[in-house]
Amino acid sequence: MPSVKRLASDSSKCIGCGACMTACSTLFFKVDDPARSCISVTPSDSGSKITVCDQTCRLCVAECPVQALTVSSQGVVMLDRKLCVGCLACVAVCPIGAIRHYPGSANPFKCIACGACARKCPTGAIGIVVEERS
Ligand code: SF4
Repeated sequence: MPSVKRLASDSSKCIGCGACMTACSTLFFKVDDPARSCISVTPSDSGSKITVCDQTCRLCVAECPVQALTVSSQGVVMLDRKLCVGCLACVAVCPIGAIRHYPGSANPFKCIACGACARKCPTGAIGIVVEERS
């Protein structure tokens, strides 16, 4: 049975501090910039809204014309930047905006369930889970 490793979230626990976005953008882009974080936290009427790839719909994998997006043995959708031609078809097809693109950058970026954000979350609103799928 295949497994899926992904970041799970509980927005009711989120206090909107942004520590997750700082952790993500600092790790991958060496800057503290929410626009360059794979996880997005935005205020809403009912508290914070957390947006991040759940690794399961995989519309982006099917849409990529050069097979730059593949599913790892852990069930994580990974982007091969060497293969990516920057057409941004994956960004366009993602229904929740979880594949992101920063203007001027050659490639999009997405969550790879590394858990860096979860380790910095002060409330346990986000965490890595591994689920078995049939
Ligand atoms: S670190 Fe946790 S509490 Fe802070 S914004 Fe991110 S998810 Fe919410």
